[in-house]
Amino acid sequence: MTDLEQLQGMISASRRIVFFGGAGVSTESGIADFRGVDGLYRQKYRYPPETILSHTFFMTHRKEFFDFYRDKMLALGAQPNAAHKKLAELERAGKLTAVVTQNIDGLHQKAGSRNVYELHGSVLRNTCMSCGKKYGAEFIRNSEGVPTCECGGAVKPDVVLYEEGLDQRTLAGAVDAISRADMLIVGGTSLTVYPAAGLVDYYRGSRLVLINRTATQLDGRADLVITGSIGETLAQIRVP
Ligand SMILES: [Zn+2]
Repeated sequence: MTDLEQLQGMISASRRIVFFGGAGVSTESGIADFRGVDGLYRQKYRYPPETILSHTFFMTHRKEFFDFYRDKMLALGAQPNAAHKKLAELERAGKLTAVVTQNIDGLHQKAGSRNVYELHGSVLRNTCMSCGKKYGAEFIRNSEGVPTCECGGAVKPDVVLYEEGLDQRTLAGAVDAISRADMLIVGGTSLTVYPAAGLVDYYRGSRLVLINRTATQLDGRADLVITGSIGETLAQIRVP
């Protein structure tokens, strides 16, 4: 049996699949992975992305934060790829209960997924730090300098910056979904970013599948490891 046939068999036998995805899911839609080393950004910006996307930097260098954010984080033209679409299809078919993602681009919802736990927030939601008024991503894109609310307050993206904690309700929802899953597919992540590896520990079943281009530290624990593209792999799955 090939790896793909094994994956198909597991999916066919499961009814509470949870997908847990990392940056690799979004890079296949052309969105950059900011945790990877990228010399280009270091040439163009005076600080590395990890510094710019930190809470301290947001509080102290707000204009430079938004220059970078508009340029690199607001990938509003990106479209869902085969992975996003197949996962939405599995949810509609009653096979998949939740998507847990480390990505902030909203592409799972754009593909049609409804139950999505966005561990690191979303660029599509933005909140005034003074009055709490909500703004969409276009408001940020169309503003100049620091986006300012009609009340005069600064508008902050609902994105978890470095040094900031995760939203506890989102995390609890993800833990609950994973602990009740009968299959866990982990895709497009090397499982090194907190809290990725810890979340996988909540899965107690016998269908843990890892799909990634490179080896991960949990390969030894998985029931099936597929080395390759998450989009190309899921594209070949038939939804019963
Ligand atoms: Zn306001």
